[in-house]
Amino acid sequence: MSAPPIPDNDEARLEVLHQLNILDTPAEQAFDQLTRLTADIMGVPIALVSLVDRDRQWFKSSFGFATRETPRDMSFCAHALYEQAVLVIEDAAADGRFSDNPMVTGEPHIRFYAGAPLYSDEGLILGTLCIIDHKPRRLADVRTDQLSLLARQAEQLISLHKQAQMLKQQVRKTEAINARYEATTKGAAAGIVRINGLGLILEVNRFVCEMLGYREDQVLGNNVGMLMPARWGKSHDGYLAAYQQTGDAKVIGLGREVTALHAAGHVIPVHLAVSEVASAAHPEDYEQRQFIGILTNLSELYAARDQAVKASQAKTDFMSSMSHELRTPMNAILGFAQLLQNSREPLPARQRRQVELISQSGRHLLNLINEVLDLTRIESGNLQFSLESVYLSEVINEAIEIISPLADQRGVSLAMPQLESSKVQVQGDRTRIKQVLINLLNNAVKYNRERGSITLSCVIRDEVCRVSICDTGIGIPEGRLNELFQPFNRLGAEHGSIEGTGVGLALTHKLVRLMNGQVGVNSVLGEGSIFWFELPLPGLSQQAV
Ligand code: ADP
Repeated sequence: MSAPPIPDNDEARLEVLHQLNILDTPAEQAFDQLTRLTADIMGVPIALVSLVDRDRQWFKSSFGFATRETPRDMSFCAHALYEQAVLVIEDAAADGRFSDNPMVTGEPHIRFYAGAPLYSDEGLILGTLCIIDHKPRRLADVRTDQLSLLARQAEQLISLHKQAQMLKQQVRKTEAINARYEATTKGAAAGIVRINGLGLILEVNRFVCEMLGYREDQVLGNNVGMLMPARWGKSHDGYLAAYQQTGDAKVIGLGREVTALHAAGHVIPVHLAVSEVASAAHPEDYEQRQFIGILTNLSELYAARDQAVKASQAKTDFMSSMSHELRTPMNAILGFAQLLQNSREPLPARQRRQVELISQSGRHLLNLINEVLDLTRIESGNLQFSLESVYLSEVINEAIEIISPLADQRGVSLAMPQLESSKVQVQGDRTRIKQVLINLLNNAVKYNRERGSITLSCVIRDEVCRVSICDTGIGIPEGRLNELFQPFNRLGAEHGSIEGTGVGLALTHKLVRLMNGQVGVNSVLGEGSIFWFELPLPGLSQQAV
């Protein structure tokens, strides 16, 4: 007996065969009817659908033969598979390849064999449809064309089996997705509402029912408008229709804060995110198009926010009245210190120094109080403010006048060479612009080096005027620039000898923002800083540049 040769593509062939998931599956009527029909037509006692596995041939159907599988090396079909053609053995007992084959010498006593290859969709041979007789036959008596036709039928059945398998897998996947969807919607800590394109509610989860005080059956099938305050509910259908016609979305795909209506009549703030369920529905088939809305209850968030706002307001009020109350005694302390300093009979040197210390500390404290008061007034929206056209050069000159003594004291020169025009006007509050300028100039002097310089410049661009104050001071480390405008943050200066409160820049920032401007800084550590602020021009027509 010669074992059937193994074709070169056997591995690929086996992979395709195994993917069919057909080996060792239960008998199927369609296959059994085909083998029976084949035996009938061909006039033989045995017909098989044989699939050639790695080491065996397995019969998907075997008519007239009780065995389900036999070893591959004694398989006739494996020869047909190798030949890639209909194989006909007229008399196995007289054929050297098969005469001592146990299936010839024993059960099922094969004498005649004909097998037609069965091709997969990929064109690989899976096995054969074969017929067997216990007595020899002549090739001329066998209608191999009919056998081939019947083999095509077997191939069709195999292909159908494959499709059924795929469908089963698809169903399993869909079931898994459905189970996950169910678990998500049921267990979600957010409300989920599914509606169709007509606005009718198809599904709500428990969360929605609990949040809005309904039972599921009270909402299903109703228009989703019932879950919204009347004025939204009425326009919802129109909005939904407009979206479906034009794709113009207000909520769908975007998400926004809206109000939902509780069954008891009160409204609940919610965040609503809606997306359209991707489906094959025709764009105009509103009944089939579907939308899922996810509702997050914002009530608690709003309550927390209101509480935080109240707490912040209370803090602001407290700071404001504290600062206010402190100002009066502070002014008295300063006033009396001044009286002592100016008294007709000069104080002894020691007491003079002590009084000077009192008024210095007093000024510092008063400064701090005023700045904090301003900050709290800005926060509470109580800062008196009048936006008007202000001649920049005027306020700059006034600020410089105030700063000059301090600059002289430190030997810092102040230059203002490039003020583009003395007639430049900006839109702002005159007092507050001056305050900003004094703050920045004051810093430029304080954080400068001995005999350093300050250059002030003013540039108009894109309808804003930028005032820059450039100093040759200590500069600011790049990594700390973002801390600059935080109240009470002195960036380490609190450990040095330069006096300050750490509030000035925070206040400057807020003041400029209030005047619709911006503040910024460029700085190089050890070389100096440029603090700038921009204010809008009053309107180009008024500008006398
Ligand atoms: P302060 O009262 O401390 O001067 P500011 O709010 O005006 O408070 O400034 C905050 C911090 O920013 C200062 O303490 C200082 O460290 C830094 N700073 C401000 N202006 C300059 C400058 N021109 N050069 C270097 N550092 C500066």
